[in-house]
Amino acid sequence: MTQDSPKMNSVGRPSAPEINVEATLFKSLLGGKGLLQSEKLIFEKDDYSRTGVDFADIAIDASDLEGLLRSDLSLPGLTEPEAMRHYVRLSQKNHAIDLALYPLGSCTMKHNPRLNEKMARVAGLGDIHPLQPVSTVQGALALMDTLSHWLKVLTGMPAVAITPKAGAHGELCGLLAIKAAHEAKGQGHRRTVLVPTSAHGTNPATAAFVGYTVEEVAQTADGRVDVADLASKLGPDVAAIMVTNPNTCGLFERDIVEIARLTHEAGAYFYCDGANFNAIVGRVRPGDLGVDAMHINLHKTFSTPHGGGGPGAGPVVLSEALAPFAPKPWVVSHDSGFDLVEHDEGVSAQNFGRMCAFHGQMGMFIRALTYMLSHGSDGLRQVAEDAVLNANYIKASLQDLMSVPFPEGPCMHEALFNDHWLEGTDVTTLDFAKAMIDEGFHPMTMYFPLVVHGAMLIEPTETESKDELDGFIAVLRALAQAAKAGDVARFKGAPYLAPAKRLDETRAARAPRLSYT
Ligand SMILES: *Cc1c(COP(=O)(O)O)cnc(C)c1O
Repeated sequence: MTQDSPKMNSVGRPSAPEINVEATLFKSLLGGKGLLQSEKLIFEKDDYSRTGVDFADIAIDASDLEGLLRSDLSLPGLTEPEAMRHYVRLSQKNHAIDLALYPLGSCTMKHNPRLNEKMARVAGLGDIHPLQPVSTVQGALALMDTLSHWLKVLTGMPAVAITPKAGAHGELCGLLAIKAAHEAKGQGHRRTVLVPTSAHGTNPATAAFVGYTVEEVAQTADGRVDVADLASKLGPDVAAIMVTNPNTCGLFERDIVEIARLTHEAGAYFYCDGANFNAIVGRVRPGDLGVDAMHINLHKTFSTPHGGGGPGAGPVVLSEALAPFAPKPWVVSHDSGFDLVEHDEGVSAQNFGRMCAFHGQMGMFIRALTYMLSHGSDGLRQVAEDAVLNANYIKASLQDLMSVPFPEGPCMHEALFNDHWLEGTDVTTLDFAKAMIDEGFHPMTMYFPLVVHGAMLIEPTETESKDELDGFIAVLRALAQAAKAGDVARFKGAPYLAPAKRLDETRAARAPRLSYT
């Protein structure tokens, strides 16, 4: 070895160089940084007349198209390398699960195994079209049938609707089935959906979208649904409750069976938000807990890619009571092969309609089934065990420096901290999260769940090794110590090193500018 070996820190990683404040003040002449050029919006590239494709001139009689003739598409003209570089450069300004741990709580940002990607590209699965004759896509239908089978086995539920395209879309599917079931029983007057205060924002939003009135259920001091409060609110006007289990505080709802019993006794249905299924897959079957409908985010628990706005998939498992109302289409098998039920006849006469065109996100189905089959039943059980172990390792490794709202007992797959420990430091949860970016880590979920002050929700998932977790813990400990030592500037100006600084995220979400002028 001719090189000096780098200094190692306590976790055996090369020590980071001291932050050089002068370097952070350095301004490049034209906005570049390191090897990354400043990037214009694609609409700022100026040549609109250039095209990368040579179309033969077509003789169209413009009068046939009347006002529909498109003369100018106004698409920016880029060569193939320019287009390639534009998007690769943009991708380098962003974070990805392939770069580092991505600790967003409630998002289950786990590694996407490359085997999944390989299978999704197999010609007979990747190159087919939803309008092909059913006889030519028998393998794809068999795959959907097999995926449905394992989703039912893993959840202990008799039916599944696989068309919903995200978790929130699954919630919509479940509530529409619940609404149809009540109407079929002459109970259409039930207008209220009960949702705990700790719920994911999609739950009350979905209920409101379906036209229900949302009523909140209180939470106990130990972070669970207040069963007495729930019982007092259940009544003849309640259509359903929506409960997340494990809940968004990263805790298992101990009284879940009692919650289901009370709900059914009141004539309501139990919708379970199953986005956190990763914590219990292979260990607990929601069907055994009395759940009537639950979405499963394939893009979380079953490792299909997400986070860049890509396609999700949120199949919904349904109880015996709700199964007849499941949306079209679904796969059936005959002696002669598989078929898609698309019509309102026989057993499907009560379906509430469709969630989308065609049959759902095929690419996600392939990846999710690949993940299931490559893990096997023992492997899926270990997914849940390791996800919970990793979260508890983080909680135990930080608890002496950072405060936890629910210190009693272990957590499930997410470690939740509050901002009590930052009191008097002038550093906020937001500042702390932004400083993580300068250290090479994506922030955790912040200020959610809303019921915990200054919440920091960390979900490491099972795919992180101990070495990766130790590196993450070392950074959080160092930052926590810096905050307590009064190194406020490090936090208030953060991120110093990211391509974009503090963005007005609220305005971007509430008043997005969707066109460039
Ligand atoms: C992710 C998540 C959802 C929504 O899922 P999407 O696929 O983003 O629509 C709903 N509830 C909980 C608890 C979640 O974590």
